[in-house]
Amino acid sequence: MFIKLNLKMPVSPTNRDEVAKAELELRIRQVKAIELFRKYVPGCEKAFIARTSPQLCIRRGRLIACDYDITLSDVLEGRHFDDDVMVYGFHDSAPRLQIKNGGTYGIPYRALRVTGIDNLLAAGMMITSNHDAHMSTRNTVSCMGQGQAAGTAAALCAGKNCGTRELPYANLRKALENDSVYFES
Ligand SMILES: Cc1cc2nc3c(=O)[nH]c(=O)nc-3n(C[C@H](O)[C@H](O)[C@H](O)COP(=O)(O)OP(=O)(O)OC[C@H]3O[C@@H](n4cnc5c(N)ncnc54)[C@H](O)[C@@H]3O)c2cc1C
Repeated sequence: MFIKLNLKMPVSPTNRDEVAKAELELRIRQVKAIELFRKYVPGCEKAFIARTSPQLCIRRGRLIACDYDITLSDVLEGRHFDDDVMVYGFHDSAPRLQIKNGGTYGIPYRALRVTGIDNLLAAGMMITSNHDAHMSTRNTVSCMGQGQAAGTAAALCAGKNCGTRELPYANLRKALENDSVYFES
């Protein structure tokens, strides 16, 4: 059983010393939590911690600015772009927030290109600054598709000896389609 000790702590992930202190505090709380389970939850008398997260990670604690920042309206309106590298159709907050007509929205290549830096691509939970939009793009299947697109783009750039901003989108799209990436809206 995985237990999420989702305890809010007023700590900036950019402050090394505060993060170290918070990590220590959270490990103390993990030990306390297992003691409470053993004492109060029938059947858990012999419960033990098999694994913990290797380090403190604060959701959206760090974000990477990219050439395009996917918005909540892009997600909810099921918007597609002329440089889509994948489509996605799930939102964590459904049914409160869901994609129009049960469709999909696109993740554009430009949303993976890190602003102001050439030849660096980002994929996964660190793109998308809007919290509600992030609650869709951060899901594992979305992160996986972004990672495939970023990896494919990097390989094509290396093969063509070009930069990530010079890569023709048509080449990327063709390679992704050849690898069976789903593009239906
Ligand atoms: C408790 C929890 C429950 C969740 N439940 C769900 C769920 O049910 N469904 C869902 O879709 N999503 C869920 N999520 C969200 C989802 O798992 C994450 O948003 C997603 O996995 C993020 O993917 P990522 O590739 O961006 O980052 P990660 O999966 O964190 O991958 C980053 C990788 O980089 C490695 N790394 C870090 N630093 C370095 C370094 N310096 N050098 C080399 N490697 C490094 C890390 O070890 C890690 O393997 C959950 C998240 C958490 C924390």
